[in-house]
Amino acid sequence: MAVRPMVNRDSQFFWDGTQAGELRIQVCNACGTKRFPPGPACRSCEAYDQGYEVASGEGTVFSYVVHRHPPVPGKELPIVIALVDLDEGVRMIGEVTGLPEADDLQIGDRLRVDFDRVDDELTLPIWRKA
Ligand SMILES: [Zn+2]
Repeated sequence: MAVRPMVNRDSQFFWDGTQAGELRIQVCNACGTKRFPPGPACRSCEAYDQGYEVASGEGTVFSYVVHRHPPVPGKELPIVIALVDLDEGVRMIGEVTGLPEADDLQIGDRLRVDFDRVDDELTLPIWRKA
C-alpha cells in the first residue's frame, strides 16, 4: 500500500497521464502559463480554460531530503524526496529511487521520470538519476 495522492477534478489529467506513462503539466490555454500543482484557474490571467502539455520528463534536483523517520506505510526507509525543477520550468516533488545510497544525490543532479504502477487506479511518477 502506498500513500495515495489526492485526485480531484483539477488533477485528474495528471493522474491519467501517469497511467499512460506521461508526465503532464497544466498549461493555460489563454496565456500559456505552466503550472504545478494544477488548479482550477490560471494564476497569471485567471482564465479557467486550462489544458496540459506532456513534459520531457527530465529535470534538475533543486533540493532534497532523506526521510529516515517516521515510518511511511508501505515504504522501506530511507526514502529520498526531491524537489525537481522540470526543464519546462515548473517544480515538482517526488521520490528518487534507484540510488546506491540514500545520500548519493546532489543538488543540480539531472533526473529522469519513471512511473511506478501501484495498482489499477494509481501510477506514481518517480525519479531516477539521468
Ligand atoms: Zn493564463
